[in-house]
Amino acid sequence: MFSLEGKVALVTGGNGGIGLGMAGGLAQAGATVVVAGRNTAKSADAVAQLRAAGGRADAMAVDVCDEASVAQLMTDCAARHGRLDVLVNNAGTTVRKKPQDLALDEWQHVLDTNLTSAFVCAKAAHPHLLRAGGGKVINIGSMLSIFGAPYASAYGASKGGVVQLTRSLATAWAGDGIQVNAVLPGWIDTELTQGARQQVQGLYERVLARTPAGRWGQPADLAGIAVFLASAASDFITGTAIPVDGGYSIA
Ligand code: NDP
Repeated sequence: MFSLEGKVALVTGGNGGIGLGMAGGLAQAGATVVVAGRNTAKSADAVAQLRAAGGRADAMAVDVCDEASVAQLMTDCAARHGRLDVLVNNAGTTVRKKPQDLALDEWQHVLDTNLTSAFVCAKAAHPHLLRAGGGKVINIGSMLSIFGAPYASAYGASKGGVVQLTRSLATAWAGDGIQVNAVLPGWIDTELTQGARQQVQGLYERVLARTPAGRWGQPADLAGIAVFLASAASDFITGTAIPVDGGYSIA
């Protein structure tokens, strides 16, 4: 039920952090995993890591903010691996500033990277998923899909948008046999949150105190949900937004 043997999964930003954690799960379940990012050295390291753990993996370059680059990625992925079954829209960024200090181009950059990219990638993947007989799209939201934060107006807007985009895609493509779901990670220890910890005094301790599981998440904590949402086990689940947060959102 959870096997991904014979499937090809593409993870944007799969070369580090949460993306690599999910890529690890997908590869372990048997998928050929394509990690797609801008930093080619980081991508090569990620592929080496996935292969060393016994997985099938490949790296491809993409800037998810550039529609032509995304179109090329999908074409190359299908040409090199013969098919595309799973798309994980994970690439993301933030600019931590109060709204009154956030420049329009900073707002736009966050929206482009986190939200518009998910639309562009899903749209470009759609014909390939159809050709594979159906498939899965997994969008990465955030606790800020649910909650507000003073330094995250663009990030929160983008991640709220990811949940609504997920619902729209899910209804549009259910008849195509394509399930679209969102994952809302809690606080996970990655480069992104290491930046936040440096910038926001006491963040590490506040997250620990607020999270019922009593710890920060690790990228590998996202492996299981990725496999579930990529596999036949979730064929009747679409349009959902599932927190993976050690209980943060219910405490
Ligand atoms: P990282 O900074 O470790 O990873 C972000 C990834 O996105 C990188 O691999 C980067 O690849 C890629 N990326 C960024 N911009 C682009 C671009 N324009 N084109 C292609 N790839 C790009 O952060 P996380 O692992 O923490 O974040 C991954 C996702 O999870 C994001 O969507 C984030 O918002 C979300 N998230 C993270 C949480 C956390 O606690 N860490 C909590 C909730 C959500 P490259 O370096 O090659 O550009």
